Amino acid sequence: MEISARQHGLHSLASVLPRPGMLVADQDIIAAACQDYRGWYRGKALAVARPRTVAEIQELVRAAGNLKYAIVPQGGNTSMCGAAVPLDCDAPSIVLSTAALNQIRSTNAGSWSIVAEAGCTLAQVQDAARSANRHFGLDLGARGSATIGGAIATNAGGVGVVRYGNCRDLVLGLEVVLPDGQLWSGLRTLRKDNSGFDLKHLFIGSEGTLGIITAASLKLHPAETTSGSALICTGSLEAATQFADLALEMAAGELSAIELMPVMGIRRSCEELLRCRPPLELSSEWFVLCRLASQQPVQEKLENIVARALEAGLCADAVLSHSVAQETQLWAIRDSFSELHKFLGASIRFDYCVPLGKIPELYHRLCAAIDKVAPGFVPFGFGHLGDGNLHFSACQPERTETNEFVGNRQEIETVANAIVWELGGTVSAEHGIGQLHLHEVSQQKSSTELTMMQCVKRSFDAFELMNPGKLLPT
Ligand SMILES: Cc1cc2nc3c(=O)[nH]c(=O)nc-3n(C[C@H](O)[C@H](O)[C@H](O)COP(=O)(O)OP(=O)(O)OC[C@H]3O[C@@H](n4cnc5c(N)ncnc54)[C@H](O)[C@@H]3O)c2cc1C
Repeated sequence: MEISARQHGLHSLASVLPRPGMLVADQDIIAAACQDYRGWYRGKALAVARPRTVAEIQELVRAAGNLKYAIVPQGGNTSMCGAAVPLDCDAPSIVLSTAALNQIRSTNAGSWSIVAEAGCTLAQVQDAARSANRHFGLDLGARGSATIGGAIATNAGGVGVVRYGNCRDLVLGLEVVLPDGQLWSGLRTLRKDNSGFDLKHLFIGSEGTLGIITAASLKLHPAETTSGSALICTGSLEAATQFADLALEMAAGELSAIELMPVMGIRRSCEELLRCRPPLELSSEWFVLCRLASQQPVQEKLENIVARALEAGLCADAVLSHSVAQETQLWAIRDSFSELHKFLGASIRFDYCVPLGKIPELYHRLCAAIDKVAPGFVPFGFGHLGDGNLHFSACQPERTETNEFVGNRQEIETVANAIVWELGGTVSAEHGIGQLHLHEVSQQKSSTELTMMQCVKRSFDAFELMNPGKLLPT
């Protein structure tokens, strides 16, 4: 867009806002807000808006709507699928940052709930819950920058899903600014409410396409005052899944995370990022990191699970944490896997979910099929074993040109997606659709399902101004 056209557009919007200062037009700030976390998408925007109150969001949404400017809600901008940045086109758009809407409005131990504004980070919500001797069950590597609004709009998952469910399972109520500027105050804390359509679920996972979430009431659980973790060396991927079943059976509700860890991830994370020795001998291809947490000591139960796994031949070696510091070190390896990709050359990444128990079949079939397209590619598979969620990266083989490898992207995606669909899975387990998976979502869903989604979108946002070009294939 020409500078003068941009200035004119910005001036038109600023002139109708009660606090024009909420619009930031600094080019560096706009550029940062238009660039996605993975560096795959760079969009265009007239300005970044930083409203401080819900009323300011309403004013902005109304004013932008009158001018037919698009609004792109943005929290921590950690989306893995280009969902939080504007499109690279000349249609005017504003990035609406929720950063300044970051208060914990209330924490209520008696109703086991917390009300947090959309811009609160996950770590902030976790800390506030902990202060009330409660636990907030959503946890993921980006906890310090991902916001609760962004996590809800993505229906994020993370390591705690095996125990607490997805973000959807943790939301009791929402406050939302609708595309026409109206406010829906739905901050209920009820555990049961069968009084009609449960509208909050429309906004959960909607990726900012139906309105701006301004606050949420969230479910809390008993505090996790004691915990223990074990890194288990399993002989195979099949043994890793069987170990997960054993841990689920034996932990009796105290299993709070169970993650699949490939040897390559542990070795390279220790060497290149954490600069430490691996916590145990890396004598197998596959490991599992599991965590038990409770209000009672969990060490004995953890030891029993490991002992049973040894007897059953599911575990060749294991290391158990004996202090918070040791546990933190084990989890630092898992948390570093996303960043580790920087050291793995070009990679084509998938966030697949298949029915429980099918991860081994998915993994082996992906490896065989992708190897035919890109011989020698390096597989990096990890993820949430208790949820059937495999993060799979096809990484560039050594001594292959990046362009040559990346040139295979479409073919790799086609063969890989065909396998996941054959297994009854999905192309997006927890990262959402954004811009990245628009093409695949129209292949995955039936025309009936897509039509219902379009009907919902049109009934909220007839002019398609809320985060256009994301989630819904046109
Ligand atoms: C290191 C790392 C690890 C991660 N691990 C996991 C993981 O284990 N599991 C998992 O599920 N995800 C994971 N993610 C991705 C995860 O989805 C995001 O971190 C998080 O859910 C998005 O929060 P955000 O505030 O950054 O949202 P953004 O990236 O800013 O936005 C995400 C989407 O939500 C919309 N949005 C943002 N705020 C609002 C709002 N207030 N109202 C309406 N729409 C809004 C945006 O328009 C966009 O569509 C990880 C990301 C990173 C970088």
